[in-house]
Amino acid sequence: MTKKKQKKRHKFFLNPYSDCGFTKCPKCDAKTKIRKYPLVIHVEPKQIFLLNKKCKYCVNCDLIIAKKQEIESFLALALPQLSKNDYLVMGTVERKDWVLGNKGSLPPSEIIERMYVFKDVWDFEVIPAGWYPAED
Ligand SMILES: [Zn+2]
Repeated sequence: MTKKKQKKRHKFFLNPYSDCGFTKCPKCDAKTKIRKYPLVIHVEPKQIFLLNKKCKYCVNCDLIIAKKQEIESFLALALPQLSKNDYLVMGTVERKDWVLGNKGSLPPSEIIERMYVFKDVWDFEVIPAGWYPAED
């Protein structure tokens, strides 16, 4: 049996700023749209969660922006004993697979099989407005 190549889709940014909603794309400055994406979250050691979540999306960059805090509060409810850094947002699934997964009719291995991993994960730093490096 040959191993199938992992399907890839979208780029991803986990937004750590609770006060920054990224109504504009941090990369290209275009207005972002609000879209729901079924995110696949891997939790150590071997759990898979599906979270259909409202995210910001930049059409130009194919970039999904999700709030870290919102993902962590979801995980805190699902897994009260989870220590904060033991998870990874890996990718997305098709809506139909999210529905199946939610009903419990897809085992984790099957979810991983159907998942689209992110093409790339980006990180951005926000420089507070009005702050500029001092000139010599
Ligand atoms: Zn963009």
